[in-house]
Amino acid sequence: MPQQLSDHKNIWCFAEVRHGRLVGTIFELLTIGGNLAEELKEDLCVVLAGDKLDQWTKELFEAGPKKIYLIEHPSLANFSDEAYAKTLAELAKKEKPNKFLFPASTIGRSITGRLAVYLNTGAAADATELSVGAGTNGVPAGTLKTVRPTYGGNVLATVICPRTRPEIVSVRPMVFPKSQKTPGRTGETVRVAVNPETWKTKFTSFTPEKSAEIDLASADKIVSGGRGLGKTEGFEIIRSLANELGAAVGASRAAVDAGWIPYRHQVGLTGRTVRPKLYVACGISGQVQHLAGMGQADVICAINTDPECPMMKLATFSIETNLYEFIPLVIREIQKYKN
Ligand SMILES: Cc1cc2nc3c(=O)[nH]c(=O)nc-3n(C[C@H](O)[C@H](O)[C@H](O)COP(=O)(O)OP(=O)(O)OC[C@H]3O[C@@H](n4cnc5c(N)ncnc54)[C@H](O)[C@@H]3O)c2cc1C
Repeated sequence: MPQQLSDHKNIWCFAEVRHGRLVGTIFELLTIGGNLAEELKEDLCVVLAGDKLDQWTKELFEAGPKKIYLIEHPSLANFSDEAYAKTLAELAKKEKPNKFLFPASTIGRSITGRLAVYLNTGAAADATELSVGAGTNGVPAGTLKTVRPTYGGNVLATVICPRTRPEIVSVRPMVFPKSQKTPGRTGETVRVAVNPETWKTKFTSFTPEKSAEIDLASADKIVSGGRGLGKTEGFEIIRSLANELGAAVGASRAAVDAGWIPYRHQVGLTGRTVRPKLYVACGISGQVQHLAGMGQADVICAINTDPECPMMKLATFSIETNLYEFIPLVIREIQKYKN
């Protein structure tokens, strides 16, 4: 039987809890989810799954949702896509949300595919723009238009899911600003029952990757290197400066493509989107695909021999110099200051 789209109401945002910590992406989802809720005149809700969740509800309510669905169970303390997707599907079948937003993280992406199958609906991945259309050519009003980079960023695809609800979307982290908080704001908490007996998979253990590196996505400070480094060893000087500043190491695609540094460090359209307080771009010209990933940094410091390149024009501080001469001086000054 075809779905009655009008039975589905409200904008749901999934709050990811990873290893016992609430991930900040929920506050980005609440910004874009809040805009959609306002436009559609529907309620903004949060779905929070895991164990020992009450500690997060105050902070979440202050960020805008009317309602929080609390799916709490010791078996959900560690993520398992079957358990999470089945539980969310049961809840969504009962409550009939209109849109269901997830962070495009490993966990968010893992849930969305399964959930779409369980709910027999459509899912769009890695959204960088979201809006609702007025309705044309058989597409109902209020249908989500999801824009996402595809084919390595060469195409911006618009994805719609006109015939089924909820529309499920994973949203690229760091693209939308975090929602404003109103101290003391509260709302309704709905506790959801969980049926672990229907799950076929069980969590056994988690082994974290051993790395002393600061995570790029959540870093406050980033030092990035580009083709101007000229060689793999160039990243030694980038790492030294990053260590002194307590910063993560980023890179342009040119540096990644040259094999000087792994892809996980790439910033830009086809890499990570970042929003640090400080971004130091060393030997990076600032092509539009790179700026797409870091243009929202609070302070940008560019070190480049070409004063006319886009990065130097965009930067808060532009230093026209050879990075190999300048960065050792900066490191020495920082060390002197620390001593
Ligand atoms: C579909 C698509 C997706 C893309 N996605 C991304 C992406 O996600 N991220 C990304 O970064 N790029 C991406 N690119 C590539 C992008 O267009 C640029 O080619 C790339 O960002 C250039 O990297 P770069 O600035 O390091 O190199 P260049 O543009 O070659 O710039 C090198 C800079 O180093 C400076 N320099 C040289 N020597 C020194 C020195 N000794 N000291 C100081 N400065 C020096 C030069 O003046 C120059 O400004 C994408 C391209 C396409 C087509």
